[in-house]
Amino acid sequence: PRSGFCISNSVFYSKRKPIPLPQTDFLDVTTFISSRPHHGRTAFIDAATGRHLSFKDLWKAVDSVATCLHDMGIRKGHVILLLSPNSIFFPIVCLSVMSLGAVITTSNPLNTPREIAKQIANSKPSLAFTTPELVSKLTETNSNLPLILVDDEITDASTKTKAKIVTTLSEMVKKEPSGSRVREQVNQDDTATILYSSGTTGESKGVVSSHKNLIAMVQTVVERFRLNEGDHKFVCTVPMFHIYGLAVFATGILAAGSTVIVLSKFDMGEMLSTIVKYRATYLPLVPPILVALISYGRGGAPLSKEVIEGFSEKYPGATILQAYGLTESAGVGASMDTLEESRKYGTAGLLSPNTEAKIVDPESGKALLVNVNQTGELWLRAPSVMKAQDLLFHIEFRWVTYMHMFVLRNAEATSSTIDSEGWLRTGDLCYIDDDGFIFVVDRLKELIKYKGYQVPPAELEALLLTHPEISDAAVIPFPDKQAGQFPMSYVVRKAGSNLSEKAVMDFIAGLVAPYKRIRRVAFIAAIPRNPSGKILRKDLIKLATSKL
Ligand code: AMP
Repeated sequence: PRSGFCISNSVFYSKRKPIPLPQTDFLDVTTFISSRPHHGRTAFIDAATGRHLSFKDLWKAVDSVATCLHDMGIRKGHVILLLSPNSIFFPIVCLSVMSLGAVITTSNPLNTPREIAKQIANSKPSLAFTTPELVSKLTETNSNLPLILVDDEITDASTKTKAKIVTTLSEMVKKEPSGSRVREQVNQDDTATILYSSGTTGESKGVVSSHKNLIAMVQTVVERFRLNEGDHKFVCTVPMFHIYGLAVFATGILAAGSTVIVLSKFDMGEMLSTIVKYRATYLPLVPPILVALISYGRGGAPLSKEVIEGFSEKYPGATILQAYGLTESAGVGASMDTLEESRKYGTAGLLSPNTEAKIVDPESGKALLVNVNQTGELWLRAPSVMKAQDLLFHIEFRWVTYMHMFVLRNAEATSSTIDSEGWLRTGDLCYIDDDGFIFVVDRLKELIKYKGYQVPPAELEALLLTHPEISDAAVIPFPDKQAGQFPMSYVVRKAGSNLSEKAVMDFIAGLVAPYKRIRRVAFIAAIPRNPSGKILRKDLIKLATSKL
């Protein structure tokens, strides 16, 4: 048997002490976090302006905004879209919406109006919070959503007339909270967030997470950083619209009373001066930024173990804690923490508390025995694993047949990701070593990660097929030192077409957010497919990288 593990044939249990979770049915994540009010401490600091938001003001603002939303008719189950870069206001919006039992869906501010329109069609929000700079993107979706401006007044008159701006967050914050909660009770099983991820296959889908999932995630974050011991300051550069930022900054560390210094977007110089100015103690990052930190002033190092060694050499005072997680598990999976024995570089750390894992043979679908170092797909079971995928529950739906169609489609999406026993297929090829450390070997799923952002190949393939001179196409990840990976496409031109590589790249660039752009194109006579028509991506990856 492996050291420290409870083994049952093919299931790994986390060797970390289980964290007790609240068992009360009626509990929303906001109440769970705000039960630790941390009076007298600072919750958020805006790096650009130096503006502080104390915990006391944060909880008052959350109550005021929730009261206003309730007055506007927002109720349990309504969806609210948040399209904004990081700001100290982002968590206020998330927490006030979730405190009502309403659901928050976040979108990447880099998304194009077409991409945002797709998310709106899928998640059916009742209103949207956005910043003045992003109003025009929302008006271009033609969704006619009522808008609430986060932060400032809008200056551009033409946008103002086109957009249906109801009020501003600063106005809402001024409202006296209703005192007693007039709101409906929120059950831990109620939906709290719909974040978008392509999962193991296909286009981006709504990942539906409950209050219970987020409560479990918050507990894991607090435990992981041992935040209850001491006064910690985090610098936030990772996006709050993604589970990473949402888990750590918009919810997780609030429970521990740490301070977050918020950068609206990543800028190396600004990030470094913020760390020095505020004497930050934690800096959550994605690997490409770590790579950039090493190359800041000299050449870069690509491989993860080398990256860590290179980083430690350049910044000897810093400790690196690696973690692994995915949107579908509310960011929870494996991690290293402040205890020396939880760290082994080149791995993603130890399983998170309350988490079980299986390594499954991707061919046979059978779980592999745990006492042999074997590589297979990592399956996870944990209280933070999403409740469903792409599940729409809208009260607004009037057409019964349409609704029926939806339920069918979504049940199918969910069951291909989570099995009947609650196991989440991560789509990642991993093994677990004798000490219980998880090694991520490769990605089985189609997903491409460009600088940490998700790029679903199926979405780009569907767009390529709309080009009049393209008869078939496949999109694969191409390795890159700086970005991790970027999308590359193999294209089959229609007979007689002289379409150039640049024309293909430009065509896609006009349709998608910059991080999804195709950055390499090759022409091919036919896309290799298996007998059922599935693209043989591994063959194309081998072909593309064979010359490297
Ligand atoms: P997302 O849902 O956008 O957070 O993406 C989750 C995916 O990112 C995982 O399924 C992995 O493929 C990848 N990922 C996350 N953490 C790690 C890690 N520590 N090492 C390698 N890949 C990772």
